[in-house]
This record gives sequence, structure tokens and C-alpha cells, in this order.
Amino acid sequence: MTDSIRFDLPQPEMPSAWYNVQADLPRPLPPVLHPATKQPVGPDDLAPLFPMGLILQEVSQERYIEIPEEVRDIYKLWRPTPLLRARRLEKMLDTPAHIYYKYEGVSPSGSHKLNTAAPQAYYNKQEGVIGLTTETGAGQWGTALAQACNFFGMECVVYMVKVSYQQKPYRRSMMMSFGAQVYASPSDRTNAGRGILAKDPDSTGSLGIAISEAVEAAATSGGQYKYALGSVLNHVLMHQTIIGQEAIQQMAIAGEYPDVVVGCVGGGSNFAGIGLPFVREKLVEGKNVRIVAVEPSACPSLTRGRYAYDFGDTVGLAPMVKMYTLGHDFVPAPLHAGGLRYHGMASIICELYDQGIIEARAVPQTETFRAAVQFMRAEGIVPAPEPSHAIAAAIQEALEAKAAGEKRVILFNLCGHGHFDMSAYDAFLAGQLTDYEYPEAEIERAMAALPQV
Ligand SMILES: *Cc1c(COP(=O)(O)O)cnc(C)c1O
Repeated sequence: MTDSIRFDLPQPEMPSAWYNVQADLPRPLPPVLHPATKQPVGPDDLAPLFPMGLILQEVSQERYIEIPEEVRDIYKLWRPTPLLRARRLEKMLDTPAHIYYKYEGVSPSGSHKLNTAAPQAYYNKQEGVIGLTTETGAGQWGTALAQACNFFGMECVVYMVKVSYQQKPYRRSMMMSFGAQVYASPSDRTNAGRGILAKDPDSTGSLGIAISEAVEAAATSGGQYKYALGSVLNHVLMHQTIIGQEAIQQMAIAGEYPDVVVGCVGGGSNFAGIGLPFVREKLVEGKNVRIVAVEPSACPSLTRGRYAYDFGDTVGLAPMVKMYTLGHDFVPAPLHAGGLRYHGMASIICELYDQGIIEARAVPQTETFRAAVQFMRAEGIVPAPEPSHAIAAAIQEALEAKAAGEKRVILFNLCGHGHFDMSAYDAFLAGQLTDYEYPEAEIERAMAALPQV
């Protein structure tokens, strides 16, 4: 055991394939259903929106899928990302636990999202698509896709939820500097947007509306544009597994193996990134490792939702997926972890949770900011509000280990920095943040409105 705190993987040792957990799942994923026919969705249904290269990855049962050379060359701009041991935080907590974190905030976009944006742009480019459409809320995903499209010489059209467009002008500037077109949603460019504006000219938008606009723009482009999604889908989760594969190699360099692996969950992609390679070690190699997903108490899909078929979007136009859901008409409380406000969850994460292979817990907002400030003062990095949920859970684990007087090795994913989230820190420091437990009555009501399958 050295006294190092940073465990770097040399670039030539960067993993050359993504890990596809579908090959090792104890049972196949439940089928995705067409919202109108309620029949399983096939490649033909998806072809107007996604390139065949990604559709095939979505349903692939192959254990490893090689990362194309062109994508590896882009990954090399920031990968392998560092693995650090938070020794100063350990000292501050006075815990015998060892706390490690994988830092994805070093990517040019500031989060893990570029790990999937780059291959998504690549596979579209391969099939002659000239541009990608997408939605963005807080702006992390839009930024990553704008960068990826720029790298591959493609157009990028982003529908940004109007309230974020107004409140996060620098995310918008960043996307535009990379050449993206950014529209405040609802916009007058699509039927979906015009319909909303006709009813409510002052609409501040929602992620559900922005998705409808981006999907319509791609579907009506005659194949010139396709649509890109930043989380939830199987291929997106798979692209993120480079995180956990690197982490396994880096923990070996550190000479330790985690007892517990922690990640925050919104749609499930960064958690999948750090967690799925460890799921493989648990299922295939019998490793004794706990894998914990952390969600906000204000949006508790896994811990309080029901495992049932529901629409992927608000309007009911997106496919139906069996998932832990709070109901597709879930209205999120004002919460600063914008990336964690999705009503559902990736199918892969839901199956693993349902089978007891991974754990989940919910953390209230103020605890996450207390954890973030403690982490930042110890380690010097300003975390985004989303991974601050993982930090809070890692601190809980470290304090439990202290109470039990045991050594525990904790690894969490610090999936993005918070440089664009300082207004949330202002609100926390001013004592303006509140906790919000999602009401049981609201869950009961939404469950009654789930689609009948
Ligand atoms: C988008 C985002 C999330 C939430 O999405 P997941 O798919 O659950 O990872 C979390 N953290 C950051 C920094 C994000 O950009």
C-alpha cells in the first residue's frame, strides 16, 4: 500500500471494448412496447430515429463490443479519467474507511455524457446522417452532443427547456460556440411546440415537451437528421461502461477492491457506467461487492415507485418500458439536481434492482449539499448537484464503517463538476434550500393512471 492518492491508467491501457451486461443478465430484459399497438417495438419502429449501428447495440447479446478507432481517438482527449483516494475527506470524517472516487468531470463537457455523445455521433455519421436533434434540460447533455457533433462535422439542433434557456445562459453559449443551434422549447419550429404555445404562450417548457420537439424534428427530416438520447437506453448505458472498466484496473493499481460501489441515478447512465462492470464481477466471478444507486428523496423512482409498464415521456408518445416509475405525469419538485428528475429509470437498472443484484437509497436535498461542501473543502473539486447524492451516500457508508469500527473500501462516481451550478450553491449557503419528501398520495394517484398492458 503506497501513500499515493491518484491512480492513473496509462492511455494505451484504456479499455478497447464496451461491456454489454445483457450477455450476463439472469433473465432477458422485458420487451419495450409500442405506445399505440402495445406490441414489442422492433428495429423498423426505431429506424426513423436511430441509426442501425445503435439499434443493433440496443438489442445485442454480445458481451463485449469493440470501441471504434475514431471514438477511441476522441476518448483519448480526456480518458482514462483519474481515480483518486479521498484521503483528506477520510481524515475529516475520522473514518477507517477508504474512499475512492472516479472523476468524470475532466471531460471537455464537464461530465460523463461525452462518453456516449461521441459514439452516437460516430454511428450516425457512418450512416450518412447530417445532423442530430436532441433535448436538454440543465444543459449537460446538450453540451456533450454539441461537442460530439462538432468533432464529427455534423449539425446539432438542441431544444432546450425554456426556463433553463433563460436561467443557464452560459450552457447555451457553450453549445452555440461548438456550432449547435439552440432553441428555447416550446418553440414555433415544430407542431408539438406550436400546439403548446397556442394553448399557453407563456409556457416555460418541460423535458417532456422538448423531447417531443426533438423527436418530431428528426422524424420529419426525411432521414437527414436523427435523434439522440443521453441516458436510459441500453446502448447509452453500455457506452458508459468504460468508466467502471477503467476503475477496476485502477483499483488494482491502488491494491484494493471496493466493498461498495456508489453512483447517483437519474436515468441510470453514470451509475451503469461505474456499476455494470462490477455487476459482471459479482455475477460471473462471485465477487462480494455491494452496488448502490442513490436518488433524490424528491424523485424516488427506485425506492418508492412501482415496477410496471409506463410511457417514457410525459405525453405518452414514447415507447412503453417496464420500469420503476413514479408515473409519466410526475411533476418534479424544484430540485437543483436537474439531471435526477426523471420519473422512470433505465430498464437494465430496474431489472438488476428487482432481482436484488443492486441496492438503492434516497437522500434529501440538503444532505447532498452538506456532503458536497464537505467534499469540496476536503478535496478541492466543486461537484455537480447530481453526484453530490453519491457523495452523501459514500459519507453515510464511511460513517457506518466508523461506528462499526471496520475498514470498508468505498468507490463512488463523481460524474460531473458543478461550475455551472453555483446559483444552487448560493441558495444552499443562503439557507434557502428545502427538503421535499415525495407525497404517498401523489404516488397512489399516478399509479392509477399507468397504462394498462
Ligand atoms: C445527466 C447527468 C446525470 C443524470 O443522468 P444519469 O443518466 O442518471 O447519469 C447525473 N449527473 C450528471 C453530472 C449529469 O450530467
